[in-house]
Amino acid sequence: MQLTQLTAVELGTKIKSGEIGAVEAARASLEQIGRLDSRVQAYLAVEPDKVLLQAAEVERGIRSGKYTGVLAGVPIAIKDNICTKDIKTTCASRILENFVPFYDAEAVTRIKDAGLVILGKTNMDEFAMGSTTETSAFQSTKNPWELSHVPGGSSGGSCAAVAAGECFAALGSDTGGSIRQPSAYCGVTGIKPTYGTVSRYGLIAYASSLDQIGPIAKDGRDCAALLEVIAGQDPKDCTSMARPDTGFLQAVGQDIKGMRVGIPTEYLSEGLDGEVRSAVMLAAGYLKEAGAVVEEFKLGLMEYTIPAYYVIASAEASSNLERFDGVKYGYRAKEYEGLHDMYKRSRSEGFGPEVKRRIMLGSFVLSAGYYDAYYLKALRARACIKHAFDEAFSGYDILLGPAAPTAAPKLGTSLTDPMKMYLSDIYTVAVNLAGLPGLTVPCMVNEAGLPIGVQLIGDCFAEKKLFAAGAGLEAVRGPWRLPDFAGEEGHT
Ligand code: GLN
Repeated sequence: MQLTQLTAVELGTKIKSGEIGAVEAARASLEQIGRLDSRVQAYLAVEPDKVLLQAAEVERGIRSGKYTGVLAGVPIAIKDNICTKDIKTTCASRILENFVPFYDAEAVTRIKDAGLVILGKTNMDEFAMGSTTETSAFQSTKNPWELSHVPGGSSGGSCAAVAAGECFAALGSDTGGSIRQPSAYCGVTGIKPTYGTVSRYGLIAYASSLDQIGPIAKDGRDCAALLEVIAGQDPKDCTSMARPDTGFLQAVGQDIKGMRVGIPTEYLSEGLDGEVRSAVMLAAGYLKEAGAVVEEFKLGLMEYTIPAYYVIASAEASSNLERFDGVKYGYRAKEYEGLHDMYKRSRSEGFGPEVKRRIMLGSFVLSAGYYDAYYLKALRARACIKHAFDEAFSGYDILLGPAAPTAAPKLGTSLTDPMKMYLSDIYTVAVNLAGLPGLTVPCMVNEAGLPIGVQLIGDCFAEKKLFAAGAGLEAVRGPWRLPDFAGEEGHT
């Protein structure tokens, strides 16, 4: 078995025992990036010299007892909307093309403190707006299972990097599905934690009341280990919480006998691809075999989730993105006449079409004449959706459903119809509106050779139930093989 095929926890264990060195692990990841990334295009920035220096420092730290955690020495990739000190953080946008933060996001600080080695920054949809990683201003990432397909988005670079063995784990962000949907498309595991579990300090804001950073890795155990590292209250983010229950690793492998799992019937209705439906049914069977009780039930209100999400997310985005004005960060138009023209031209040239669409939509729903009709109504719908989930969790421990209506679409087929793209977020956005945790677990491979992952949804603070159920599902499903580039067939 190649070193890059180990899970993060397996690698961390071998590093701890001295069987593998942190530098050796970093080199293996860098070699894999060198071999594959010109085709996968998961990364926007990798600085090998810095990576090796960092790995050497960590190796010394492990020997001296400074780093004792299970993930010390493990190479990790970071989505490019999460600030990294002295490493460019672009949000895959021209407007931040040359932005080099002078501070680390809190999640990054915690990762460094735990001795993980940062390999580089991964591609994404511009400002995390999109579902395919094709709205990036710089490149389209490819799905490592089939290079002619998208990896999903917006954390497509992070998910593709994990799937291609170009890192052992990654950080993504999820505002309306951006960790769970690309994880499903790339056959990797990803969790969007309960809102407030991970500090948003240093995460470049898209929609602040929905955004949450989370782990992406090869299995549930790796995600649990990484979430333990990044979770925690941070005085720099007043929405972050002190949780007493962040020992997520303990939950992996816990018995799920008698766990009550509900499948919302709305999640199986029209619009769902037959193979994805089969994957959900297969997952239901796996969970039953592991001892869970699975049944269908009516969740309700699902028809309001997409409109409420796009109104709220765009409203918050239009306000958050006001700061990019050609003065404070990065890009400024070359030619302009006066201050206002400078703002206008810098923003017109610096933002791509999808970001502009959201800014316009958001400004519209917040404008005086329409605020009540759209924004306020969306907030009310959000409260009702939260209520529907509260009811559901009075009867079920967790919910099961798809993460996306189809497997990964072909490159170049999604951006022509924005409405269709928005509608494909139907199974993920409600979780963000209600602040809940959601875990994607790979389940099967379809006829075209693409993976399909399913989504487990928990009540607020119920990550442990998700990790226990995820591990139960994995155990019955059996070992999961990521695409093997060794022979390189089918990957031209
Ligand atoms: N696809 C959704 C959107 O474009 C979700 C994005 C996200 O979670 N960052 O808004």
